[in-house]
Amino acid sequence: MTIGQEIQIPGYLPQTYTIKANDTFWQIAQSLSLPVDALLLLNPTVTATQLQIGQNLILPQKITNFVISDENNYTFEKMTGDIQHLVTIYPFIQQQVIGKSVLDKDLIELQMGVGNRQKHINGSFHANEWITTPVIMRFINEYALALTNNTSIRGLNTLPLFENNTLSLVPMVNPDGVNLVLNGVNAAGNLEDYVLTLNNGSNDFSGWKANINGVDLNNQYPALWEEEAKKKPTTPQPRDFPGYQPLTEPEAIAMAELAQQKPFEIMNAFHTQGEVIYWGFQGLEPPVSQTIVEEFERVSGYQPIQYVDSFAGYKDWFIQEFQKPGNTVELGLGTNPPLPINQFEEIYQETLGGIMLATLYL
Ligand SMILES: [Zn+2]
Repeated sequence: MTIGQEIQIPGYLPQTYTIKANDTFWQIAQSLSLPVDALLLLNPTVTATQLQIGQNLILPQKITNFVISDENNYTFEKMTGDIQHLVTIYPFIQQQVIGKSVLDKDLIELQMGVGNRQKHINGSFHANEWITTPVIMRFINEYALALTNNTSIRGLNTLPLFENNTLSLVPMVNPDGVNLVLNGVNAAGNLEDYVLTLNNGSNDFSGWKANINGVDLNNQYPALWEEEAKKKPTTPQPRDFPGYQPLTEPEAIAMAELAQQKPFEIMNAFHTQGEVIYWGFQGLEPPVSQTIVEEFERVSGYQPIQYVDSFAGYKDWFIQEFQKPGNTVELGLGTNPPLPINQFEEIYQETLGGIMLATLYL
């Protein structure tokens, strides 16, 4: 460690403090439960025995509140802003770019934990199911807050979860689509005319599930793709078009490569809605898949459904390729996205215990 080097204490942010009469370095350090040396490192030009009234000190301020406070209309830019805040306060959150969207937005993976057990959660494969992104982001925030304040979540001590697992999270698989739903045609860049044509000239994109090319990313995977394509539109659409071939879209490819590079022992893809969990594919799911969804059901109340007449999804392909538990989790009640934001808290609370924490402790 060298003088002037920034030290990062997880869960703290630097804050300016002005010296008052009778302040001592020792008493300030004690009030923050920090060693004097740590304060001296933050204030390399200050002499501890010569504090002056009116002099400014840099103090680490402990973060005890959520950084993420605005989950409504959760665009790509809101997410990246929150990620920058989170990684600044919590340097143990790892961030990496796993690919680019059609419109060159970063596909961001966050990782939390130092354990050998690698697990994965993703959201917003489908554009108008964007509420799944702030659900994941809130969880990252709550997990980090609990770790740095030494508090539990639902009675669970979080440190062992952090030590045993490395949790991979891709909160927004389809950023171009999410921004199209939330910001309208201006979000389509040089594809404005194209998406307007696909959307029958309407600037209401609330029914849009696809990526910006009009390909449904959750119909893009080589797991009975031909069977799925027979039942689906044959040209680009706001939803359901599986592409002219499997894995033509950069977002779908990046997610496939991620799963090929990392030995995820479980994958949960968050969608809306219906409060159900699809967990099988052609009998290729391992026996432990059932144990896991039964625990998810017990805690969240979400109903497990083993098989459904739908193929070529990320979950289908994940089970087929790796014979590991893969789940499509449909958050929230009802059938038609977007979910109203006033359901956010309820959805988050169901998901927190029943899916997020269960994924970590199982
Ligand atoms: Zn969906």
